[in-house]
Amino acid sequence: AAEDGITWGKAPCRYCGVGCSVLVGVKGGRIVSTKGDPAGPVNKGLNCIKGYFLSKALYGKDRLTTPLIRKGNRMVEASWDEALDLIAAQYKKAIAEHGPDSVALYGSGQWTIQEGYVASKLMKGGIGTNNLEPNARLCMASAVVAFMNTFGSDEPMGCYDDLDLGDTYVLWGANMAEAHPVLFSRLIDNKLKHPKVKLIDIATRRTRTTKMADEFIAIKPHGDLAALNAIIHVILRDKLYDEAFVAKHVSFKRGKENAPYGLKDKEAFNETPADVKNLSFEEYKALMKPYTPQWAQKVSGIPAAKIEELARVYGDKSRKVNSLWTMGVNQHSRGVWVNNLIYNLHLLTGKICKPGENPLSLTGQPSACGTAREVGTFAHRLPADMVVMNEAHRKKAAGIWGVPAEKIPAKVGLHTVEMFRAIDRGELKCIWIQCTNPFQSLPNLNRVRKAAQSRKAFIVVSDIYPTRSTELADVVLPSASWVEKEGVFGNTERRTQQWFKMVNAPGKSKEDVWQLIEFAKRMGHGALFPYPEKGMHRAIFEEYRKFTLGTGKDLAPYGTYAKVRGLRWPVKANGTETRWRYTEADDEHVAKGEGIKFYKAPNNKVSAWFRPYEPPAEVPDRNYPFWFCTGRLLEHWHTGTMTGRVPELRRAVSQATVELHPEDAKRLGIRNRDQVRITSRRGSIVLTAEIGGRGTPERGSVFTTFFDEKKLVNEICIDAFDPLSKEPDFKKCAVKVQKA
Ligand code: SF4
Repeated sequence: AAEDGITWGKAPCRYCGVGCSVLVGVKGGRIVSTKGDPAGPVNKGLNCIKGYFLSKALYGKDRLTTPLIRKGNRMVEASWDEALDLIAAQYKKAIAEHGPDSVALYGSGQWTIQEGYVASKLMKGGIGTNNLEPNARLCMASAVVAFMNTFGSDEPMGCYDDLDLGDTYVLWGANMAEAHPVLFSRLIDNKLKHPKVKLIDIATRRTRTTKMADEFIAIKPHGDLAALNAIIHVILRDKLYDEAFVAKHVSFKRGKENAPYGLKDKEAFNETPADVKNLSFEEYKALMKPYTPQWAQKVSGIPAAKIEELARVYGDKSRKVNSLWTMGVNQHSRGVWVNNLIYNLHLLTGKICKPGENPLSLTGQPSACGTAREVGTFAHRLPADMVVMNEAHRKKAAGIWGVPAEKIPAKVGLHTVEMFRAIDRGELKCIWIQCTNPFQSLPNLNRVRKAAQSRKAFIVVSDIYPTRSTELADVVLPSASWVEKEGVFGNTERRTQQWFKMVNAPGKSKEDVWQLIEFAKRMGHGALFPYPEKGMHRAIFEEYRKFTLGTGKDLAPYGTYAKVRGLRWPVKANGTETRWRYTEADDEHVAKGEGIKFYKAPNNKVSAWFRPYEPPAEVPDRNYPFWFCTGRLLEHWHTGTMTGRVPELRRAVSQATVELHPEDAKRLGIRNRDQVRITSRRGSIVLTAEIGGRGTPERGSVFTTFFDEKKLVNEICIDAFDPLSKEPDFKKCAVKVQKA
């Protein structure tokens, strides 16, 4: 409706995985305002501060508006034809000389579903390489593997309604108040309305979340692996489990242990079916015997009595308990195991698939679920939970794509860390980066930046602003963003949300999907993308939707999403959404009378894994005596490329600082606002000290954020990764801390 000449349209927020609905006000071809959409079921009209200033994120003075090509040390303006012809020539040359695995595409959980789908079809079905990755490898890969090896299907059984309906919330290393602010306000709303609601914050750092919690439980870095095992030990020891639920729904398994953290190049590990041993419940109980609360106290720092208490919280049949986690668990060198252990708490106690009591893995990016996971833009995945290693899956994908099944390689492509190491090794000749900023966000950043600077690979970057990645590119392409194009995102709670284009992108900017299809034509794969110019986004989505039908991930027709504020899949035959999966009460893939049925798991039984304690890849020592942890903050989005252009957000937080515990600071002679040098085995940076600010790490730890492009804090981070998920551990490495 028009109001003061402003036309309002609906869209999901551009930023985080919460997926708030916003109304976008357009006047004179520009976005003049955004506001929380009162009809938005996620946020009920609320936005966080990033959301309130969404409109300004697109109007920074330095928007990229024309393609740029490197000529020596200069970037010169070029036409689209010149830029795309050059990219295609470089890709063709690399493929001719070194084969299809010498090229790659690195995308994003901020890609729309259409962009991710076209990227996947082009790389896997056209070029014939699985060297396609999303930046979601850096944030969600551990969650994905744990969903798959526990439930046989990715993404949660519960939804945001659980935040309104539960009475106990246990946060495992999640600063929801800053990283998922609108969801946190929903949880707090429940708490304020219902005095019985209890919030327990288990973390290595006191945050704004802690201020609203009933209880803060300090835990040592990596201590979750010990504490969770000990809680399970008590649940088993004191028979706090739900025997009938376990007997009907759970099978016990043990995988391969002592897998390496991938610190050496090409150090590969894969858990094959031959590595997995089935256990009886009794065998599992016996394996859990050594994990006593007293033992866990030493490793995790949580007092044994508190571990007993936590076991009683999970085991209390009268309580509706929810576990919530995000990067603290996923960016972890045993991230999959920690996810597995949290699921074990819910599987043993039967607190799952019920309104108000579920485990909920929170996502970071707006379409980490919709695009990276559901479309399957990881190096091993195909749409709708399928994988390239499976012949039947490749055949199904090839059938829908209209390519020979042999075209899709069975060999898993390079995962993110290896992809950028392969540039350093000179093995990857071309990489195209879209909608992400890896030369700020990757771990062990010095290595990957030096590799890029050496010009060993031809690097293309599509973005909307100059970034720390565009500065290293051979070609920079100006992209359209958010409502400058049409798209679909999928959020944390399986909600698929569509929006239409509302304004033109500046200058010659073009949306990423157009860029990819124009490139495909030059590569001889144009026939794969026979979409009409008008209705292209609908056509791409409808083709992708074929992958989902009948799989338990069923999507609605595109036209439905155009009308509603999103729907949570699986969408039923009558067009309504599913709030709780695997339950006859809500999921039409479960027949009446079946109760709960984990229909994607083998024999309908989910897997509870024995996951022992193993130490992290690097621990503090005499030379590097502190733990170093990175994370997000409320005002800025990831590497700050958009929020850094919003004057109000830049004024609110202008630089990354390093948080110290007051006693550590005193001992080191560091006062608030002093300059502090942080040094790891990989790099050294100087940051301003923040003591007693919004966050306080536990003694022996320091914390900083990664949004500030002037402070490349990821130069410090270790590139060790979880051997199962290949997700790097941004939450812990060893550093020394000195007054600069
Ligand atoms: Fe956007 Fe996330 Fe803030 Fe909601 S909570 S307004 S989705 S950044």
